[in-house]
Amino acid sequence: MSMTKILVIEDDEDVRDNLLDVLALEGYELTAAPNGRQGLQLARNESPDLILCDLIVPELNGYEVLQSVRQHADLATVPFIFLTGKAEKEYFRQGMELGADDYLTKPFTLSELLGAIETQLKKRDRFQQGLRHRLQQAELQLDYLRHHDSLVQLPNKLALQKWFASRDIACALERERDALAVCLLAIDRFDRLQKNRSHHAIASILQSVAQRLKCYHSDSTYLAYFNLNQFVFLLHNCDVRAFTQKILESFHQPFLVRNREIFLTASMGIALHNLTLWDLEDLLNRAEIAKSHAMQQGGNQSQYYTPALLVNSIERSFVETHLHQALAKQELQVYYQPQISAETGKIIGMEALMRWFHPQKGVISPAQFIPVAEELGLIVELGEWILQTACAQVKVWQERYQPDLSLAVNLSVRQLNDSQFCDRLLAILQQTRFPPHLLELELTESLLVENIQLVQKQIDALKSLGIAIAIDDFGTGYGSFNYLQQFRFDIVKIDRSFITDLHSNATNAAIVTAIADMAGKLNCRTIAEGVSTEADTIFLEEQGCHILQGYFFSPPLPSSEFAALLDAGGLFPLPRSPA
Ligand code: C2E
Ligand code: CA
Ligand code: CA
Repeated sequence: MSMTKILVIEDDEDVRDNLLDVLALEGYELTAAPNGRQGLQLARNESPDLILCDLIVPELNGYEVLQSVRQHADLATVPFIFLTGKAEKEYFRQGMELGADDYLTKPFTLSELLGAIETQLKKRDRFQQGLRHRLQQAELQLDYLRHHDSLVQLPNKLALQKWFASRDIACALERERDALAVCLLAIDRFDRLQKNRSHHAIASILQSVAQRLKCYHSDSTYLAYFNLNQFVFLLHNCDVRAFTQKILESFHQPFLVRNREIFLTASMGIALHNLTLWDLEDLLNRAEIAKSHAMQQGGNQSQYYTPALLVNSIERSFVETHLHQALAKQELQVYYQPQISAETGKIIGMEALMRWFHPQKGVISPAQFIPVAEELGLIVELGEWILQTACAQVKVWQERYQPDLSLAVNLSVRQLNDSQFCDRLLAILQQTRFPPHLLELELTESLLVENIQLVQKQIDALKSLGIAIAIDDFGTGYGSFNYLQQFRFDIVKIDRSFITDLHSNATNAAIVTAIADMAGKLNCRTIAEGVSTEADTIFLEEQGCHILQGYFFSPPLPSSEFAALLDAGGLFPLPRSPA
């Protein structure tokens, strides 16, 4: 603790020295001035803990010093004790009115002096303690106000952001197992309520909805409220489907609003957190898109975010009207992207990717039309076509160039749900004489969430035919590592969003290392997709990643160009680390 500093303002040199001596012996730190002006200067510069001031001093008298001191923000409460001769006693009142704390009449005894000083210092301590306490209270209250919505008494967006940020990025992989979902809830037809009801009524509607939602708050939820009709649940390690169902059902009971019962419904949008999606804003945006969709569908329902919701309505209607005929009009083609052995640099196989060349629109990306095809059910037909076409093509290459060439084809869950899928696939394999053990089917894990049991059965059936199953876009789904153990995949394709800046991006490097490690333990082959630089290639080789695919080697190619690659020997030079 710092020493207590006392300022002595006294023109009589003997009295001053005497005071300084005795107070120094008591352990006080001292500073002194022979006149009012210098005294005031010292007070301002040194912020003493207490001031002893002779009433009659040159340049500025004691009253004037006191007056100036009290006007100074830092000194307004500093204990101020006047020293006076007996003759000046009549001035007592005047000094007290100006805010002096005590008077000592000369000559005073040492114990009078020390007693007066101590009393004032204690008084000041108590005052400061009280002040600190009130400040603390005010700060707590301010903090609460800053982090809560005052209408519904729930944490606000700022609080949610803080809570989210406190889940440390460093435990990324840990957290992945602790699956997280954002669920955005809004009362349906809220604008109509707003038009027809008073401000007060709207406030109490929101309050009673908040009240009800609070009942569903538990250790695995975080409930927040953003401005006007946006309730947010963060759900961790909890059955999202069961939870949203419960919430929707809770709206079956009427709400009591100013003694009248009213019925409300709500829409919910859900976005699942995953390895690529750190960002709370991203999650909220996705949940918002899903929620709007749920509302457009009539409300009173929940909707998971899927990329298909993003394809805007103009594109969607174009795709919807034209995709039907694309096959018949032979606008679809298969492109092949080489997959390279990280050990030898040799092409070991390829991924077949669909391309749509529309005579007016040009190339339409599969990212645009596949989600719509999935929704329309067209994917079953398209999926069969690409399997048929690619198996026939690759069989030719196997015979001409390389008998062990593998073929990877993307599969949508819609196809798996089709009970005849295995039979049709078998027919294609027989008709094209394609060896089943060289076929890999790629499933995106984000699509596995929906029908775990059925998918499991189909995967088992496919595996019994000798077909390999790859998990695509690994790391971008809801429960990547869980699925890895549950489904016994043969191949893990590390999502291309992680395969970048592996030498400088510590998070990506850690994720890739962990995936490669985990896959190794489970006897899965690893494919890195989207490999586009030499440095990333070297890193992946060092991590023991088995197969590489990406623009660094080659983009997807039409069949003629792919054949030319094979014809030239199908070998890529592999970069090696300089060391
Ligand atoms: P995907 O299965 O993850 O396919 C890989 C995508 O990454 C392809 O995009 C490919 O062109 C692209 N790519 C390859 N190397 C690189 C690279 O180095 N950098 C970058 N930035 N990208 C690279 P594409 O062909 O546009 O396909 C997009 C998605 O459409 C595919 O993602 C897949 O989910 C879907 N898709 C394509 N064809 C089919 C299909 O026949 N059936 C199904 N169900 N889905 C398909
Ligand atoms: Ca794929
Ligand atoms: Ca992929």
